[in-house]
Amino acid sequence: MEIIHISAECYPMAKAGGLGDVVGALPKYQNQAGHFAKVVMPMYRTKFLYDNQFEVDFKGAAYLGDVYFEFTIIKQVTNKLGFDLYLVDINGLLDRENVYGYDDDTERFTAFQIAVITWLNSWEHEPDIVHCHDHHTALIPFMMKHCYAFKTKLANITSIVTIHNAQYQGWMSWDKSYYIPHWDTWKYGMLDWKNMINPLASGIKNAWRVTTVSNSYLEELTKNSNGLEKLFEYERGKCFGILNGIDHDVWNPSTDTYINHHFNVKTVDKGKAENKKIICENFKINPDLPLIVFIGRLVGEKAADILPESIQQIFTHLKNQCCIVILGSGDPVIEAQLKALQNSYKGLYNAYIGYNESLSHVLYAGADFLLMPSRVEPCGLNQMYAMRYGTVPMVRSTGGLKDTVIDIGDEAGYGIRYNNASVADILYSTQRAIDVYNDKDLLQTIRKRMMQIDNSWEKTVANYDAIYSF
Ligand code: ADP
Repeated sequence: MEIIHISAECYPMAKAGGLGDVVGALPKYQNQAGHFAKVVMPMYRTKFLYDNQFEVDFKGAAYLGDVYFEFTIIKQVTNKLGFDLYLVDINGLLDRENVYGYDDDTERFTAFQIAVITWLNSWEHEPDIVHCHDHHTALIPFMMKHCYAFKTKLANITSIVTIHNAQYQGWMSWDKSYYIPHWDTWKYGMLDWKNMINPLASGIKNAWRVTTVSNSYLEELTKNSNGLEKLFEYERGKCFGILNGIDHDVWNPSTDTYINHHFNVKTVDKGKAENKKIICENFKINPDLPLIVFIGRLVGEKAADILPESIQQIFTHLKNQCCIVILGSGDPVIEAQLKALQNSYKGLYNAYIGYNESLSHVLYAGADFLLMPSRVEPCGLNQMYAMRYGTVPMVRSTGGLKDTVIDIGDEAGYGIRYNNASVADILYSTQRAIDVYNDKDLLQTIRKRMMQIDNSWEKTVANYDAIYSF
């Protein structure tokens, strides 16, 4: 099948979170399974853009409302990612350093979608699957069906919307409806949700099938999805949960190019100890204590707001029994609080505020535990990476965390689970982590058990195949 993935992120071209990892891996594994999968995304000004060669594939022009814009689609020349990567260049709109966070994100991503669909419409053949990821690309199924310029050619192509995060929906006021290329106004209900144009809701209504990145997350969305609960209830029949995989070419402790000491399931204890030593030297913390790390966006969804208080409680109640390192960026208030704590707990605690891909690999490899108290976690990749590197996940029972981590108290368990994103639950789980660390036989058993779990993309690709041809 020819599958075109449309996304705002794709690793290594641009990644802000798990979406980038997923779109950077899924097409590669689909191609290995015999498909012809490719990715189209915006051309941001990232390092990957400057380090790689591209050729022009298509030049076109379109309107965003009454603004005429020209765009160029370039293709990475070598196919080194395992799939064809196409970048959409729209001068002044997409060619920025960051993926998101600009005041004109609505215009940027709407123009991006218009450029992509104009390009698809120019193909001499039709792809088998148009696979859209998150709200930034979720207007495409509507445009395929209800925009006069595209529907003749594209209306009958199978469209899929995968929801990696339903918190963000791309809301636009109705006065921006003229951005969408001349469309059948009888179909306004297919764009609308609660008197706004809601791109994610539109994607759910118009796509052939909708997937979310875990089963538990799908169930949770019918109860809590930032206003879309009823829609998920109505459309439940065409929604499916498919757990993400992890890319073993990138996330493999025996080959990872970011870490100094490689290891496998047989050498895990030694390998982790060596990597931990490096972390402890760099962060000036005690290497003899269990090391708990947090890696992620410092936002409410990840419960990062309760980290500062949790850290203080941990060091008050469990004095000198563990070390903590934080890697993250996000809310400036949380960033400042986490930084300030460095002075209070020297030798036990440190934080790196910022985004650092290589440090994340080093931490997964060298840490003993990974803390994820997330309030919302659609799938969660961190816990799967951690497990692959023999790092015990301490996770709140929600979404994909619930679907991928079994508590050590249960049969064949390997992780620590708790129910609430609260300081008390984090404190209690830290005590459990310290107990696990002090029982070396148990620690070794669960490290080996986790490392052998199959979270490969091959399984996930087969699940997507079933949806594509359902
Ligand atoms: P989300 O997409 O909600 O942020 P996921 O668990 O799906 O969460 O994916 C997060 C990805 O981003 C992982 O690959 C994680 O290692 C990475 N990541 C998050 N924050 C940072 C950071 N500050 N530095 C490096 N990597 C990070």
